[in-house]
Amino acid sequence: YAKYRLDNAICAFSDELKRHSEERYKLEESLRRAIENGELEVYLQPIIDLKANRVVKCEALARWQHADGEFISPEVFIPVAEQTGLIIPFGNWLIDEVCKILQRFKQQAVDVRVAINVSARQVSDQDTIDYIISSIESYQVNPKQLSVELTESVLVHSYESVSALLVKLRQLGVIVSIDDFGTGFSSLSYLKHLSIDELKVDKSFIQDVGINNNEDSAIVLAILGLAKSLNLQVIAEGVETADQHQFLIDNNCDCAQGFLYSKPMTVAAFSSWYKDYASQP
Ligand code: C2E
Ligand code: MG
Ligand code: MG
Ligand code: MG
Repeated sequence: YAKYRLDNAICAFSDELKRHSEERYKLEESLRRAIENGELEVYLQPIIDLKANRVVKCEALARWQHADGEFISPEVFIPVAEQTGLIIPFGNWLIDEVCKILQRFKQQAVDVRVAINVSARQVSDQDTIDYIISSIESYQVNPKQLSVELTESVLVHSYESVSALLVKLRQLGVIVSIDDFGTGFSSLSYLKHLSIDELKVDKSFIQDVGINNNEDSAIVLAILGLAKSLNLQVIAEGVETADQHQFLIDNNCDCAQGFLYSKPMTVAAFSSWYKDYASQP
């Protein structure tokens, strides 16, 4: 009887696995086509300098609108791209797009730095840095206008290749940020050894900030203190309310990003949003 139950369970399990892998395969195939056919688009979300009240940076966030009109979240397709190796052609496409955007921005007097998210596989791939260098050259981009966001989990899993990449990025002049800071189960000692410029405080810590003397406020204050003494810039992610914004200003946080200012938008929409923001009283 036990054996019968086990056999059944295994059957059910392998059915589930098959369905799952078929879905994954379909997603992989359509992502491959999406990259080839240009179904992907770069959206930009502004990052505000809180002291100057100016838009000084933005983050490139990939958007994929499927042929049937539906948007597929990067939380869904980035992991598939990672697992299948498609992240390499995807990542190269993104680097190229962002450098093209920076070239256009120079002509339009849109003076912002653009951040790209770089994943673990890209960090371990020796060609990534060459691709960045060649795109920067092709589109005559000032490397200081480009930044790279790495999560702490990328640091943990590929420390050796990260540190090699960061040295090269530093030589180039590309800015390096730690994304989702505080959520990665990593030791803080990397802050001592790696060439990092900036911490992006994860939105989970920003949510309840400033409401009372709560844990989130304490954590954000501690991160601000740490960053100050290590000479790192801080960007607060996921700012949605005026109270959060005020708390960050009161505590000398450098920059903020979130729906309070704007959601990620198309490059054209970003350009005009940037100009409107700059002309605000
Ligand atoms: P991330 O790099 O931490 O990006 C910030 C995410 O927070 C974005 O989600 C953004 O839309 C969202 N966000 C911004 N402000 C707010 C806010 O005020 N409230 C809330 N609730 N959310 C806010 P998105 O675009 O869905 O991207 C999710 C994640 O997918 C990114 O997290 C990043 O890890 C990854 N991702 C997106 N685009 C790319 C890409 O081009 N390459 C790579 N490797 N990863 C990407
Ligand atoms: Mg990011
Ligand atoms: Mg983040
Ligand atoms: Mg994230």
